[in-house]
Amino acid sequence: MLLIRRLRDTALTLTRQLNKTSLSFKRGYSYSIKDAIVLQINGETLKFPHIWLRDNCQCEQCFHPSAKSRILDWSKFNLDSKPTEVHKDENSVQVTWDDGHTSRYRLDWLKFRSFTEENQQQYETELYKPPKVTWKGEDFQKICTINDYNEIVSTDEALYKWLKDLSTYGVSLIRNTPSDDTAIDAILQRVGFPKQTHYGLKFIVQNVPNTSNVAYLSSNLQMHTDLPYYGYCPGVNLLHCLVQTNSDGGENTLSDCHYIANYMKEHHPDQYKILTNTEVEWSDIGVENGNEFYKLYRSPVICVDKCDHVWRINFSIPQRGSHFPGPIELVKPWYEAYSLFFELNRKFSASFKVDAGSILVFDNIRLLHGRNQYQDSGENVRKLIGAYIDWDEVYSRLRSLKVKLEKRSYY
Ligand SMILES: [Zn+2]
Repeated sequence: MLLIRRLRDTALTLTRQLNKTSLSFKRGYSYSIKDAIVLQINGETLKFPHIWLRDNCQCEQCFHPSAKSRILDWSKFNLDSKPTEVHKDENSVQVTWDDGHTSRYRLDWLKFRSFTEENQQQYETELYKPPKVTWKGEDFQKICTINDYNEIVSTDEALYKWLKDLSTYGVSLIRNTPSDDTAIDAILQRVGFPKQTHYGLKFIVQNVPNTSNVAYLSSNLQMHTDLPYYGYCPGVNLLHCLVQTNSDGGENTLSDCHYIANYMKEHHPDQYKILTNTEVEWSDIGVENGNEFYKLYRSPVICVDKCDHVWRINFSIPQRGSHFPGPIELVKPWYEAYSLFFELNRKFSASFKVDAGSILVFDNIRLLHGRNQYQDSGENVRKLIGAYIDWDEVYSRLRSLKVKLEKRSYY
């Protein structure tokens, strides 16, 4: 009898706890409705935790308006602040806290930051990062947009459209670029800052015997990502074609590794797992312009975040070192998975020849790129000017442009 009562009491306590924490129980946090203010905004019932509201007070003692930054003294922050009075009018809500401090929030400001999954998703796609759309070789003509050099340089609308296409599909072309070694500079300046590497702020891709990098040869350049041996790997690759070869070959091949990763996850889950879990040592050792470099970086081929979303791809046959940082039993299965990944990239790749005057722009941590063998002649020497930009700069420019073009403030 006693046991039954104990069991019943335990069940009752558990039910009470579940009711209390049901708000976000599925995410595994303990959270009580008593710790939040519930507001009706545009017909939606939205909950805002006290601690978050107090932290995000918008008054000038707590938040610097021109720096758009929190300035409250964290050493004095009370994690258990409670409101003593809440007053809502048409456009805002005023909260008086138990220490006497008063905060005011605009309702649209609150709604934009609300904790519902739908609102959080909307913020992510509208402002944080545009969602990616994956593709395979046969889709390439449809997804690779062609943008005009002069329009990008002179209008914000064209710049925004180009960067959005680039972030969505991971590739786009710019046409009508002046035939000048420095023409790419205006594009780099429109976005932000180029990323310098040991190959320089910009680099020339041309056939060079005794080269420091196999990209500077005219032989077949197998599909790869650039600079996987950088921990802070340049995100976007720009290649301005000044002179295209008139021999056979010289075509670029491109593949979307996000498509390949999804494909492997579905059809080859064991190999997918090996490529996401096994670290590889990427390397580049040598001298360029008198500067010695010895770059090493360990990272899997497919890097995924905690939600199993791919965020970075590393792949290079020449720039993979011979030190294998894993256990000996993983060696053969890893090579098999790596080989399958390469084959799938070839199978689902697009191949095309870039015209002189075009800049091929692509996501260097998402796509593999390669180039077929070609032949220079006395009067025709293939020449590209290359540069890198980080995704931080691209996303930053996209958000600034969005706010400017939509005449909207997200603060
Ligand atoms: Zn305040």
